Amino acid sequence: MSIPQKVKAVEAVFHALEGELRQFQNQTPLRCLTGCGECCKKPDIEATVLEMIPLAYHWYQTGTAEAWLDRLETSDADPLCKLFNPFGTLQGKGNCEHYAYRGLVCRLFGFAANLNKYGKPLLATCKLLKEEKAEAYQQTQAWIDAGGRVPMIRDYYMKLYAIDPTLSEQRHPINTAIRLALEKVLLYYYYQTPKAS
Ligand code: SF4
Repeated sequence: MSIPQKVKAVEAVFHALEGELRQFQNQTPLRCLTGCGECCKKPDIEATVLEMIPLAYHWYQTGTAEAWLDRLETSDADPLCKLFNPFGTLQGKGNCEHYAYRGLVCRLFGFAANLNKYGKPLLATCKLLKEEKAEAYQQTQAWIDAGGRVPMIRDYYMKLYAIDPTLSEQRHPINTAIRLALEKVLLYYYYQTPKAS
């Protein structure tokens, strides 16, 4: 599968998730805190290379891939996601510089579920929501317990695996996943471009 084909396939998975999330949010009261970017500040966010391929492709298409590669190669020691802009919102709490191209992990977090050891879907959401929107969190989990349909994290990673097992079997620190995705895209186009003899 070529890079543009992989981009389309991954974007189709993101699109399907958006639809499922919309339905889920229409039926449940849980929402993020206004202007909050706390989940992006976690130093241990992990992603697969494949989920960052649309972002890398976007940078390639807009001529910013090399600059981003430099930035990612020179600042690997800082675990904070390089796309996070701490001054990005009116509330001053920060946001994602490339929200439309964020990874699957970013799309799922807060409003999707994992199975617990008894096979029961458990909402994977943040401490802030559990504490500051405790009632909405509990109502949402009760709705899931009663059979409400929640996006399942495992299912979405399986969809990525079906597109490209090699690029989706391992999770890396998010900046590493972005850098590896960028290297894949640049390498692909390096071999696609006819060289001057
Ligand atoms: S890619 Fe964007 S949404 Fe995901 S962790 Fe980084 S800043 Fe946050």
